[in-house]
Amino acid sequence: MSSIPSTQLLTNSDYRDWFESQTLRRFLRYVQIFTTSDPHSDTHPTSDNQWQLARILIQELEELGITDVTLTDFCYVIARIPPSPGYETATPIGFLAHLDTAPDFSGQNVKPKVWESYDGTPLELSPGWILDPRDNPALLDYRNETLITSDGTTLLGADDKAGIAEIMAALAFLTEHPEFSHGPLEILFTPDEEVGKGVAKLPVKSLKSTFAYTLDGSAEGTYNAQCFTGYTIGVTFTGRMIHPGDARGIMANAVTMAGAFIAGLPRSESPEATDGEYGFYCPQEMSGSMEQAFFRLFIRDFRREEIDRRLEYLKLLAKTVEAGFPGGKVELSIDKQYLNIKEYIEPHPEVIANLVKAIEATGIPAVPELIRGGTDGARLSELGIPTPNIFAGGHNFHSRFEWIGLRAMVRAAQVVVNLSCIWAAGGEIAGGEPED
Ligand SMILES: [Zn+2]
Repeated sequence: MSSIPSTQLLTNSDYRDWFESQTLRRFLRYVQIFTTSDPHSDTHPTSDNQWQLARILIQELEELGITDVTLTDFCYVIARIPPSPGYETATPIGFLAHLDTAPDFSGQNVKPKVWESYDGTPLELSPGWILDPRDNPALLDYRNETLITSDGTTLLGADDKAGIAEIMAALAFLTEHPEFSHGPLEILFTPDEEVGKGVAKLPVKSLKSTFAYTLDGSAEGTYNAQCFTGYTIGVTFTGRMIHPGDARGIMANAVTMAGAFIAGLPRSESPEATDGEYGFYCPQEMSGSMEQAFFRLFIRDFRREEIDRRLEYLKLLAKTVEAGFPGGKVELSIDKQYLNIKEYIEPHPEVIANLVKAIEATGIPAVPELIRGGTDGARLSELGIPTPNIFAGGHNFHSRFEWIGLRAMVRAAQVVVNLSCIWAAGGEIAGGEPED
């Protein structure tokens, strides 16, 4: 395996027209397919409409000449692209995007609008619905560029059909340009990411990727190698019941106990009081009566020590409340939901180092951002395939004001190509341009 000359990595202006037409054409086709997932369904996929996009992608992959293409019984599209001759032993890399759109807002009858040569003024998506750069200053980075929005009656679906279009454009490019050498590549288009089931039926054991990248992030140039670690904690309060008239010194009221417990949670560590790298306790639900009450909360943080500190505090709080209500009982049940992907990615620094090289080769700095939530990449990382997230370019996810710049889609597709080439070269990039 030899190093790759830096001149062979794509900058944003390379093959720009080709990438623009490839990403835009595909994106406009995908967003018009209704793929909203259903949080109330127990089936896999959670909504039948996701099959349509999956089947179209299978056909398009085959049209690219890719022969190892599978649609699983649970609507996962899996494609494997064999390595360029001589790169059979390169590290196998995966790229993922999700088929579904969020159930938070209508994703049916999406009518995308293409705004060429954006002039920096507010965009009237439809009467009464204005996408205004005063609320969305990132729009101004796309002056004189092409923007895509919905018509204001639905979401757009850039989350995550931009990711799919970018991966497909990158594959089309690599097929047309065999001089861009790559190792074994694996493509995964997954259903139900938005309802937290994107990895539920993924045949993880059969996957070949050593590392993978989701194209499901937001602003151009950003990537995510950290998400929250999440725990959910159930608290059961058992009281001691007696007729309230005879209760003095005897009763332990489960409802009052629950109130004391909730009052003990620090307001300064709530979701509404924190941002950036700070985590929180978040009360989620409660129910019960004087005899028994139940309360559920979740805790989030980027740092393991902070999670452990909060778990210790909750245990102490439970003991304190119990001591204050003789005869009553407070029990905790603690469940891990997901871990910060950092814990899986950090032992493999080349995963991020190669990504940073791939983004910066296109001509902008690579900007790390924290995800204040979990990702499907976190589940996949936990299952053995460390998976950070790359920008797909969209903004205002899950809303009628969702928008994306075409330049960002082109750049994301180029990052996929660059990453494929950099991994094939074992991460080695040889010098810059020769000087005359
Ligand atoms: Zn997404």
